[in-house]
Amino acid sequence: MGEYIYADNAATTRISDTVVEAMMPYLTENYGNPSSLYRIGRDNHAAVEDARKRIAKLIGAGAMDIYFTSCGTEADNWAVKGTMHRLAAEGKRHFITTNIEHHAIIHSAQALEADGFEVTYLPVDGKGRVTAEQVRAAIRPDTGLVSVMYANNEIGTIEPIAEIGKVCREAGVLFHTDAVQAAGILAIDVDEQNIDMMSVSAHKFNGPKGVGFLYCRRGIFPDNLMDGGAQERGHRAGTENVAYIVGMAKALEEAYENMEELQKHEASMRDKLQQELMTEFPDIRINGDTEHRLPGTLNVSFDKIDGQSLIFTLDLKGLAASSGSACASGSVDPSHVMLALGLPYNLAHGSLRLTLGRYNREDEIDKIVEIIKETVAEIHIG
Ligand code: PLP
Repeated sequence: MGEYIYADNAATTRISDTVVEAMMPYLTENYGNPSSLYRIGRDNHAAVEDARKRIAKLIGAGAMDIYFTSCGTEADNWAVKGTMHRLAAEGKRHFITTNIEHHAIIHSAQALEADGFEVTYLPVDGKGRVTAEQVRAAIRPDTGLVSVMYANNEIGTIEPIAEIGKVCREAGVLFHTDAVQAAGILAIDVDEQNIDMMSVSAHKFNGPKGVGFLYCRRGIFPDNLMDGGAQERGHRAGTENVAYIVGMAKALEEAYENMEELQKHEASMRDKLQQELMTEFPDIRINGDTEHRLPGTLNVSFDKIDGQSLIFTLDLKGLAASSGSACASGSVDPSHVMLALGLPYNLAHGSLRLTLGRYNREDEIDKIVEIIKETVAEIHIG
């Protein structure tokens, strides 16, 4: 195969070499169980606690407010189901979220409904934004939790998190945000942004897959999802994934060290790509909010193009991209996010997500446009 261009960094990212280096000792000679009392165990315990402190510092949290999980999905499930089940005892059985959340939230909300909870799914505008006013209007005396994603995984729209958090705080309602697409890309301060709970996943910022964390402000304890040993202060049992936790801390630090530079790098490539596609395809639709958007994300819709065929053909020509959410691929229906934007079926179905990251290069942009041009000409219907 010739050159292959990876433009699907919202699905996952390539792990950084220095992150792998930091992880290696814990996958090889330093293999102790953090719960063991002897030296090799204590070393591993220290590594986990050191990672916890370093991560907490980056997001303005206390170390004891970080709970390691196996992924972003677990953190989302825990925050939504665990918190609502805990609050049910106080008569709070109403949960508010939006209709463009990742399935980790949407399906957790549906599981709550099946258990007799009530859920309000706030609609978004044509650019994928929800307002703090909408949240205020939806809050009821029995509302326990609001969950609004920080940035959307399909269109990159960034939500007004601090304002929503403020409204929740004023109403005495807990606020969770799924920051899986934002963490490591945008600066986050949980205090300044009124965030009570937040889900993060390492593989979106050049860390390893299969590790994440839930930030939980002190005093907030969702019901446990995992019962067992005393790990994570008794709230999330299971032997810690030490190497991956160490890797996540290193990856988040690297992301913060280079944040401004990376944002500029990604936004400049993305803007060039957008401009070139608009020139080639004057009828193309740009999905999402161009004023509040993740720096590396571009989502466009073509009329009379089948999203699935588009992805397969682009792949054959050496370009990895996605149509709708990678996590939902395999499903032929347009994604719930595209439908929530109010796009007609043909445009919802013909969407293409290109997400650029740290390892993309400026010179790949012209090649991406060329491949898309060729592909669209081949598979255009009618
Ligand atoms: N939330 C959002 C917004 C995501 O984009 C994803 C993954 O794509 C997840 C949650 C799930 O994270 P993980 O892959 O770590 O389970």
